[in-house]
Amino acid sequence: MKQVILIEPGKIRISDVPIPEPSEGEIVVKVDTSLTCGTDLKAYIRGHNLIPMPGPFGHEYSGTVASVGKGVQGFKEGTEVMGVHSAPCLSCKFCKKGLHHLCETIMEKKALGAFAEYLLLPAHVVKQNLYLKPKILSFEEAALLEPFSCTVHPYSKLKLDEVETALVIGAGTIGLMHLAYLKTKGIKVIISDFFDDRLSLALKMNADHVTAPHDIENIVKETTGAFGVDLVVECTGQQGVWEKAVNYVRRGGTVVLFGGCISGTSVTYDTKRLHYDELTITGSFHYTPEDVKTAYLVLLDKSMDMSSLISGEFPLQDIKKAFIQLKEGKGVKYALKP
Ligand SMILES: [Zn+2]
Ligand SMILES: [Zn+2]
Repeated sequence: MKQVILIEPGKIRISDVPIPEPSEGEIVVKVDTSLTCGTDLKAYIRGHNLIPMPGPFGHEYSGTVASVGKGVQGFKEGTEVMGVHSAPCLSCKFCKKGLHHLCETIMEKKALGAFAEYLLLPAHVVKQNLYLKPKILSFEEAALLEPFSCTVHPYSKLKLDEVETALVIGAGTIGLMHLAYLKTKGIKVIISDFFDDRLSLALKMNADHVTAPHDIENIVKETTGAFGVDLVVECTGQQGVWEKAVNYVRRGGTVVLFGGCISGTSVTYDTKRLHYDELTITGSFHYTPEDVKTAYLVLLDKSMDMSSLISGEFPLQDIKKAFIQLKEGKGVKYALKP
């Protein structure tokens, strides 16, 4: 089978490798659709500490079960599936505290290699984070389960019914997914980006206000009357933007720092805002099986139209073209078809 290997930043190779055989509890999925992700783009451009190189590339997928290992329940050959590529160990110190997203081995034991004809899913992933794909979802929509699980993660500990206004900074895939989710909760959303085509997408996805980054402050003032928004979601992973993010939130509001910055960077905040304005600032990393389930149910509910997030489709062998487009800021996410 064909498998895409990321050799080093900027260098992709398509290798011929044997189709994997599932051991006990494992499943081999015949990939129908895999999707490019912001993390993949980061890895492709500058390397990523969670994506080993050289190594199999890609982690967002949907497809059909090709073979099942001994003891697998609920799935058989031919079942259409959607899933994520990781799951917690359930036995480390973090898992025991219910912090499944911070599991000590969740990253090390994840299944990379969705940019291929077949993908082997380990037993712990099959058991916790693989779902049946209903016919009402296309393979493309189903492959959004992984990034959408990341998106819903911070909201598991936030009271969204108290949020009336939100600012999403950055209208890439993840920013647009936050927009789509927040809109299902009836929240007024302002979203910002440098690229006009992304802002047009945001308008199509029912953003209440779109703005270029330099104008955020004005728009927030105009729409909230100097009060500030209840929630800010930072999706750019830029140090300077992380620092500015706290300027737009109201007293007692929440800032979710969703976009990860380059490692080794640090930020500075005005202590008065943190202390006297009692802001809540929180990071967001990965997801728990609960989040995956939430994301699955929301996708099934079909209350969001995320079809415009997929900017186009390439055959797997043209994967480089997809990454070149993304690197040039063209499109937000591409579907790859083996
Ligand atoms: Zn992803
Ligand atoms: Zn664990």
